[in-house]
Amino acid sequence: MDEEGPECGKPDFVLLDQVTMEDFMENLKLRFEKGRIYTYIGEVLVSVNPYQELPLYGPEAIAKYQGRELYERPPHLYAVANAAYGAMKRRSRDTCIVISGESGAGKTEASKHIMQYIAAVTNPSQRAEVDRVKDVLLKSTCVLEAFGNARTNRNHNSSRFGKYMDINFDFKGDPIGGHIHSYLLEKSRVLKQHVGERNFHAFYQVLRGCEDAELRNLHLQRNPAVYNFTRQGAGLSALESDERSHYLAVMEAMRVIGFSAEEVGSVHRILAAILHLGNIEFVETEAAGPEQGHLAVAEELLVDHVAELTATPRDLVLRCLLSRTVASGGRELIEKGHTAAEASYARDACAKAVYQRLFEWVVNRINGVMETRGRDPRRDGKDTVIGVLDIYGFEVFPVNSFEQFCINYCNEKLQQLFIQLILKQEQEEYEREGIAWQSSLDTHHRHHPHYTSRQLCPTDKTMEFGRDFRIKHYAGDVTYSVEGFIDKNRDHLFQDFKRLMYNSSDPTLRAMWPDGQQDITEVTKRPLTAGTLFKNSMVALVENLASKEPFYVRCIKPNEDKMAARLDEDHCRHQVVYLGLLENVRVRRAGFASRQPYPRFLLRYKMTCEYTWPNHLLGSDRAAVSALLEQHGLQGDVAFGHTKLFIRSPQTLVKLEQSRARL
Ligand code: ATP
Ligand code: MG
Repeated sequence: MDEEGPECGKPDFVLLDQVTMEDFMENLKLRFEKGRIYTYIGEVLVSVNPYQELPLYGPEAIAKYQGRELYERPPHLYAVANAAYGAMKRRSRDTCIVISGESGAGKTEASKHIMQYIAAVTNPSQRAEVDRVKDVLLKSTCVLEAFGNARTNRNHNSSRFGKYMDINFDFKGDPIGGHIHSYLLEKSRVLKQHVGERNFHAFYQVLRGCEDAELRNLHLQRNPAVYNFTRQGAGLSALESDERSHYLAVMEAMRVIGFSAEEVGSVHRILAAILHLGNIEFVETEAAGPEQGHLAVAEELLVDHVAELTATPRDLVLRCLLSRTVASGGRELIEKGHTAAEASYARDACAKAVYQRLFEWVVNRINGVMETRGRDPRRDGKDTVIGVLDIYGFEVFPVNSFEQFCINYCNEKLQQLFIQLILKQEQEEYEREGIAWQSSLDTHHRHHPHYTSRQLCPTDKTMEFGRDFRIKHYAGDVTYSVEGFIDKNRDHLFQDFKRLMYNSSDPTLRAMWPDGQQDITEVTKRPLTAGTLFKNSMVALVENLASKEPFYVRCIKPNEDKMAARLDEDHCRHQVVYLGLLENVRVRRAGFASRQPYPRFLLRYKMTCEYTWPNHLLGSDRAAVSALLEQHGLQGDVAFGHTKLFIRSPQTLVKLEQSRARL
């Protein structure tokens, strides 16, 4: 990658003459037009999705960043990955890279570039075990995308789950294991999709990709329009040939990771069973047997398919579809027939849960392969970790439900952490370097009422009484509809289904349902709600991130139309506001605009001073830097740390840059 000249704008927003939205946007736009999609705010990387292949990646670019300091090369994801890797390797610090931004902003692509960088710079001695771990790490993305991503109106490959991946390194700095946490899969997508959207990729891949014989065994037809769950997005299929090549890539990735042929077979059967389940409809009839009340399944063949594919007894499947067991009074169990509405609800709950368990099983299966085994810290040295977080950004739709509520809660927590960590990081660095500094951050908290409803604010006609409530998030106001909210939160699945799955003779399916062995009488107490589980997982995530040295990638989506080379200013401005980027620049400048190790500072500016060019004879780099600054008359604007120079105002840097450019 070539170096940047002044025509590319400022490589760090901290260098702006003034921190205004106009100046920020002007720089962002200028850089974007020059193909410079990355810009720093100190050590935070701002990235704008180019929506086109740019020649920024690959082995040559990786080599340019390897082992370099952050500011030595133009801003890049590789520089951030390298900094995180360096901190981990040289200082044995656990680090994490938090990638945020709205749907389609480029988070997942960024995480893949980071992983590729790490894979490329590690394991020079080509140890087989390390190679295996790297293979699994890289291939896991492909598999997770098949099961957890879908085409949405905002992004044709949208992640419908949050992902946090830890990579474990040994003392040599080679990856020896990993672990993936997934968060809140959007399982309602299994049942229904918005206009213009599709179900999870995996369904179409099986329909389009399987050989004829396998498809016959699954009792499936190729056409996604045949199935209720895939019909809506059927017309939006990728090219059939693409779908098949994706399918083959996923199969290959699963094989490399170590999924057995039996396991892959089970996965296909489960996907097929879900599709068949979705086509089951109920009819109320006088003729149905007494134990099933007045309800029957419209097409019994589908029950046969579901039973066969899930390796469960047909009679039990039918029974689970038409009725449920309830514990009445003490321990007495009675079977209670469903109404048609209840049966449809239970069928849907089952389809969603089966898919969710499948997804979780895939994640756990990958984790099992990446587990670091047989290591003894006394013998092998301590593991260090780099965590990569690729999680859904703040979401506001015309109608917002439980999922948006959770996602926005998550973003609220992460933003809070961002502010906290920036503060902490700055303080720690100043302490380490022996610099006195006064925090100015708390002034950034504003007090306001966070919650409104029509009840509290009767004049607000934009909310419906008893149906809507509004939360003032840091990123903007969001009105949530309560419809379906409680249901999604309760997330109830009848124990009969769980038992049915647990009793499957397919070991893979059975392994997904350990809780199915419980008796109905043991599970009558209230389970934790989906909201509580999510909240707990977020608290754990934030605790985990806070214990690591953080690096941030803030992704921006340039326009709503997935168009290359078009930056819609209004759209970007909004993101700059809610990602808090201007505040970030201000905080960074409030203390010191820039900090650089003495050798790096000299490398960049030594040609501007007679005492330092070509080499200095001043005893220490610190003394040389001091002489250089004195010659420029800039010594009043800096502080000397133990290893770094701290420069207070960006104007000082601008002056240095100018004298460098004049030569
Ligand atoms: P979601 O929250 O919906 O998962 P996301 O932030 O993960 O969104 P990505 O899937 O990473 O978004 O990116 C969306 C699309 O934008 C990609 O499929 C790709 O076409 C394009 N894109 C993103 N980053 C880059 C890049 N660095 N270079 C080229 N194209 C990119
Ligand atoms: Mg994504």
